[in-house]
Amino acid sequence: MQKPNNRLAGQTAIVTGGSSGIGAAITKSLALEGANVCINYHSDQKGANEVADWVADNIGANKTLIVQGDVGREEDVDQLFEQTLERFGTLDICVANAGIQKDFPMHEMSLEAWQAVINTNLTGQFLCARAAIRIFLEQGMRPEVSNSLGKIIHISSVHEEIPWAGHVNYATSKGGLVMLMESICQEYAPQKIRCNSIAPGAIKTDINKDVWSDEEGLEKILKLIPYGRMGNPEEIGSVVAWLASDESEYINGTTIFVDGGMTCYPGFSQNG
Ligand code: NAD
Repeated sequence: MQKPNNRLAGQTAIVTGGSSGIGAAITKSLALEGANVCINYHSDQKGANEVADWVADNIGANKTLIVQGDVGREEDVDQLFEQTLERFGTLDICVANAGIQKDFPMHEMSLEAWQAVINTNLTGQFLCARAAIRIFLEQGMRPEVSNSLGKIIHISSVHEEIPWAGHVNYATSKGGLVMLMESICQEYAPQKIRCNSIAPGAIKTDINKDVWSDEEGLEKILKLIPYGRMGNPEEIGSVVAWLASDESEYINGTTIFVDGGMTCYPGFSQNG
């Protein structure tokens, strides 16, 4: 776990899907840097409470707010951002993390499974980024806390680059995030908004528990990771904290892969 060093003191963040896995670790990392964090959850209120309790016990009271909401619903996203502003007064960082998988071979994939994944993983990220941009523009620069007008961080995946048979809805949603993120950068960098993505490789969370909890599945996935192990959620959280801080101020419109080398295609290491 990273050490607290207050790089985000006086700033407020929203983390979608903050009740579990990578989102929970991001929330803790941002709070360790001194940020107030709104923890959005979809259905796991207990998980959200546990993350908030961790922050209260380890960092301090009144640093978090918990808001239920579906990121794919416009009205839920609007009230998520409104409640955050009401509670903390400002917004500086939006981490669009919520995501799902509904895996099927393409020829067996229902329209419903396609739309559910696109709606959460891509439309949800659009709605959150749009709400954040509106607030950043209205709020104006806050030089006392950051050199940027605001920071948007999309949690993408190595599958924004690596095609994924049997997961065409998921890979398409993450591929779409590249253009969403880059277009936001192109459009709003002149106003000093920074928009970037983090693309995790295989990180041990609930989303892929069926793979790593099974010995054969784990063995198979390790063959895809040159570094020889899966990642931990905290290894994404610490990169988010840095990317939200002014230490990374000149990074804009790009994806940072945090994947133990997965995007170096280890299948080709022995002559293909
Ligand atoms: P997870 O299942 O623990 O987290 C996903 C979170 O999103 C959950 O808290 C869930 O409740 C929330 N969520 C789902 N639908 C939602 C909705 N409509 N509205 C609001 N919240 C919703 O899994 P995770 O691994 O922590 O995933 C977090 C993000 O990381 C996802 O975007 C995922 O695609 C991405 N990712 C994960 C991995 C990995 O290996 N774990 C790899 C690459 C990318």
